[in-house]
Amino acid sequence: MTVYNFSAGPAILPKPVLEQAQNELLNYRGSEMSVMELSHRSSLYDNIIKEAEALLREVMEIPDNYHVLFLQGGASLQFSMVPLNLAVGKKVLFVNTGAWAKKAIAAAKNVAGVEVEVIASSEDKNFSYIPEINPEMIDQDAAYLHITTNETIGGIAFKELPTTGKVPIVADMSSNILSNDYKVEDFGVIYAGAQKNIGPAGLTIVIIRDDLLNAEPVFAPMLDYRVQVENESMYNTPATYSIYIAKLVFEWLKNLGGQAEMYRLNQLKAKILYDKIEASPLFKSPVSKENRSITNIPFITGDSDLDKLFCIQAEAAGFKNIKGHRSVGGMRASIYNAFPIEGVEALVDFMTQFELENGN
Ligand code: PLP
Repeated sequence: MTVYNFSAGPAILPKPVLEQAQNELLNYRGSEMSVMELSHRSSLYDNIIKEAEALLREVMEIPDNYHVLFLQGGASLQFSMVPLNLAVGKKVLFVNTGAWAKKAIAAAKNVAGVEVEVIASSEDKNFSYIPEINPEMIDQDAAYLHITTNETIGGIAFKELPTTGKVPIVADMSSNILSNDYKVEDFGVIYAGAQKNIGPAGLTIVIIRDDLLNAEPVFAPMLDYRVQVENESMYNTPATYSIYIAKLVFEWLKNLGGQAEMYRLNQLKAKILYDKIEASPLFKSPVSKENRSITNIPFITGDSDLDKLFCIQAEAAGFKNIKGHRSVGGMRASIYNAFPIEGVEALVDFMTQFELENGN
């Protein structure tokens, strides 16, 4: 049976990347050592992390005035680290678009000396759309505006960024980094957990504009962007193996044609599924058409028993992890960069079969 893994994260990795990692597992480039066993201070490892950064800079077209950090603690730690470094004694603005934005808001509220203002929210309609943000809503004295570019659970995404004047946009890009056409220069800070589009869990990418680095030291050096920049992400032992896999993923993406090609393929994959949902007499999308995500696609029948049956039958047929998040129910297909188009086509065929068997 062919298995397609629709997990929202940790998610599928490109097969060629896993094969290369397998080939190099015991003996990395003639060293007779695994990458896992290399000292992070060795020249072999130094090359890996430097190449990873160079490749990420190339595929994301990251301008020179931005730093790239390979940290730990997940995107969740960034919920606290960003306000701690950028906003003590200041106000920060948030757009509340769903479960992940809510967590970021709650964490910022817990940072002493940070004032949090939620300027727009889609909670009134169960986070099924991205609220409008007018330039007048942006207090020009705010340290930043935080957005979640893609809500992994709700399945909505920013297509266009708000106009914010001189206030930088800070983005949690965990579930659509490298899969969209965002431009780094439109953001002050981008952060993302690696476990969806980049590599194994345990690695967090932070991209930060130089002028936003904190002037004052943060009480804990590990939480201090300036310390991390000065130590080139090696203040302590970094997530060495995850960074190595990330490097292979960046290489794979570059060889595939880069981020623009990835975006094209992702749009194609998403269209196949959305076309099916739109034409279906049984399945529906719970989110607004204009804001729907191309990486996390929720769908429902409107009958929770039928949703359950679909999930059970899909799981048995090899469509793994297609159950919606426990907080929202229904189904969710996460189709990140490494997810093959054949998997989406197979899912659509399965949905058609299910309709025939269960439709009225
Ligand atoms: N933000 C978004 C949009 C996510 O999808 C996730 C995880 O799924 C997180 C943050 C939390 O990431 P982490 O588990 O790396 O802390």
